[in-house]
Amino acid sequence: MHWLKQKLDQQRQQHRYRTHKVFDSPQQVHSKVDGKDVISFCSNDYLGLANHPQLRAAFQQGAENWGVGAGAAHLVNGHRRPHQALEEALAEFTGQPRALLFSTGYMANLAIATALLGKGDSVIQDKLNHASMIDAAQLSTAKLLRYQHVNADSLGRQLASASGNKLVMTDGVFSMDGNIAPLPDIAQLCESHNALLMVDDAHGIGVLGKTGAGCVEHFGLSNKPIIMGTLGKAFGSFGAFVAADEDVIEALIQFGRSYIYTTATPPALATASLSALHIVKTEQWRRDKLQELIDLFREQALQLDLKLMPSDTPIQPIIIGDEKACMELGEKLYADGLHVGAVRPPTVPEGTARLRITLSAEHSEADVHQLMTALEKHCIQ
Ligand SMILES: *Cc1c(COP(=O)(O)O)cnc(C)c1O
Repeated sequence: MHWLKQKLDQQRQQHRYRTHKVFDSPQQVHSKVDGKDVISFCSNDYLGLANHPQLRAAFQQGAENWGVGAGAAHLVNGHRRPHQALEEALAEFTGQPRALLFSTGYMANLAIATALLGKGDSVIQDKLNHASMIDAAQLSTAKLLRYQHVNADSLGRQLASASGNKLVMTDGVFSMDGNIAPLPDIAQLCESHNALLMVDDAHGIGVLGKTGAGCVEHFGLSNKPIIMGTLGKAFGSFGAFVAADEDVIEALIQFGRSYIYTTATPPALATASLSALHIVKTEQWRRDKLQELIDLFREQALQLDLKLMPSDTPIQPIIIGDEKACMELGEKLYADGLHVGAVRPPTVPEGTARLRITLSAEHSEADVHQLMTALEKHCIQ
C-alpha cells in the first residue's frame, strides 16, 4: 500500500528504521551472531540468569511435570500450582499482602491503569516513563498529566490540578537513563493528595536493595506503593507480576482486561521463575559483582571524559545527541565485537540519541576493559 511505503521511507530517511539481528546462541554475555563472536552490553539480564543451569533444569522439570500450555486464562482453568506458588513467593519477597502474575510487564501496566481508573479520573506520570505506561494511560480513558522528570515540585503542581481518583505512575529505575525515581518524596506527595502510587520496577527488581527486592527496599519505604515487577530482566525468565494490597489485586482480577482475556503463561515458566527467585535472594555476590563493574565502568569513562548520566544502576547511557552519529558509533563498536544498544527518538527525547550500555554480573573486568578501549578508539577524536 502506497501510504505504508511512504511511512516506511520516511522512517528510513530519519535514520529511525528498526531492525534486529539473529542470535545463534542463548542469552549470555559472550554470544554468537551469524558466526561472529560478540560481547553483549545491551541485555537486561543483569544477574546473568537467563541461561543459568538451575533455571534450565527448573524449566525442563516444569515441562515434565506440567506440560507446555496452561490451556486457558487464569480465571478459567489456566491457574496451576506453580503459578500459585510463584505468586505467594513474590508477595513474600516484596513484603506485600498479595501478588498477581501477568504475561508481560506491558500487559501488567495496561491492567493497572485501566482497572484502577476510568473517565473523570487522573493518571499522573513522569515525562520519561516507559511507553507501556503511556499506552496504559490512553487506554484507561483517564486524563493523562505529565510532570517534569523526577521533579517533585512539578508532580505536586500536577497533583493539585488533578481531578477524580488519582494514580501516580513512575519508573523505579528509568529504563533509558538508569537513574532512580525519588520515591520517598513522591510517596509523601501522593499521601498528602490522596493519590495511589504505582512504581514500575522492571529494572530495579532483583538488582536494588539488600535482598534484591527493588526500589522499595532500596529506599526502605514503610508505606509500600503498588509494584509492577518483570521476570524477563534480572530474573532471566519471562513474564511479570503486580504486588500490592488485597483491594488492588482484586480490582486487577475483576477489571483488568489484559489479565482476564488472555491465556495464562506456561506453568514451567513459573517453576523457572521460582528458581530465579531463589538465586536472586541467596546469591548476593551477583549484586556485589555488578556494583563493582558499575564502579569500574564509571571510573574509566570519567578518565576518558565520556559524558555519563547520573546513574548508579547497571544502565549506563552515553549521550551522543545526533541520531546518525549514534547509529554509526553503534555499528563501529559492533564491528569490533561489542554489541551496545544505540537508542534514538522516539524511545528517548529528541536530540538525546545515546549508547545504552548495560552491565551484567556475568561480565568480567576484562570485558569492561575491552569496551573502554573501543569507546576510546571511536568516541574520542
Ligand atoms: C521492559 C519494561 C516493561 C515491559 O516489560 P515486559 O515484561 O518486557 O513486557 C515495562 N516497563 C519498563 C520500565 C520496562 O523496562
